[in-house]
Amino acid sequence: MTSPKTVLITGTSSGIGLATAVAAARAGWTTIATLRDTGKADALLTAAAAHEVTDRIQVKHLDVVDPATIATCLDEVIAEHGHLDALVNNAGAAQVGTIEQGSLDEVRAAMEVNFFGVVATTRAALPHLRASHGRVITVTSVGGIVGQPFNEAYCAAKFAVEGFMESLAPVAATVGVDVTVVEPGAVASEFVANLNLDVDAQLTTAGPYAPALQAYLTRTQQSFTNAQTPTEAAAPLIKALTAPHPPFRIQTSPWARNFVTTKLTDLDGSAVQTLTGEWVR
Ligand code: NAP
Repeated sequence: MTSPKTVLITGTSSGIGLATAVAAARAGWTTIATLRDTGKADALLTAAAAHEVTDRIQVKHLDVVDPATIATCLDEVIAEHGHLDALVNNAGAAQVGTIEQGSLDEVRAAMEVNFFGVVATTRAALPHLRASHGRVITVTSVGGIVGQPFNEAYCAAKFAVEGFMESLAPVAATVGVDVTVVEPGAVASEFVANLNLDVDAQLTTAGPYAPALQAYLTRTQQSFTNAQTPTEAAAPLIKALTAPHPPFRIQTSPWARNFVTTKLTDLDGSAVQTLTGEWVR
């Protein structure tokens, strides 16, 4: 009898990561649900219990911006389970503001968690994924394809992830590792709340950009009224986890597919500029 496949998921305290951990366990995978603060595992464990998959979920500490925690976590997984069959890079954080408002350090922080965190975790997991002929699935965003107003640093980081993974995919395939990116649109997770956005302070520091920022915030609030649930966003990700050979790029909703299509057929960039220009007027 072969042991169940093992998947490691980053950022499982809430949202898409939590939903993916529960769904992976329900699909029969031994699920290493990692958190940067294991004291925040209550919601995950409650959901796991509700779906009767507690025995297939193992909570471990992993902070994607701390390479030592990545190494320790992977060492433990291999010691305890003998193999790693998939990595889901899910951890990420929003960042809102235009470049003149914030500091370079804020841009670097967005890159650290959303880009370098993915690179570091993938790099550490690859030897084990080569051994298992496994896969890397990374939650990027429609913002990894279409740059969005007041999301310069966040979209830059997600574009970087898309470029990194698109470049890695054919190379990884030569050693039997599949690479997939998953692109959600708006998802009703803790993503916006975790931003801790002080709207008044943002509008004050926005100066001449304040009317555009106000228009953007109003439009974004409306777009989140049609958000997918984390469980809905996790469903295509689980397909990528279990399909014999998943595609490289997956959108999690028809809306996300249409939005990304605008960019992928927009050879001179005018369609996207017209579309997102309307968000800030
Ligand atoms: P979420 O509920 O805020 O979940 C984000 C998760 O990432 C949390 O578990 C958070 O942990 C974790 N995290 C943040 N920094 C971390 C770090 N340094 N190390 C490890 N974990 C860390 O938001 P979500 O929507 O589920 O986000 C999941 C992914 O989807 C992200 O990559 C995000 O960019 C992407 N996405 C989201 C949306 C959306 O509308 N929600 C749209 C497109 C793409 P803590 O609880 O400790 O902060």
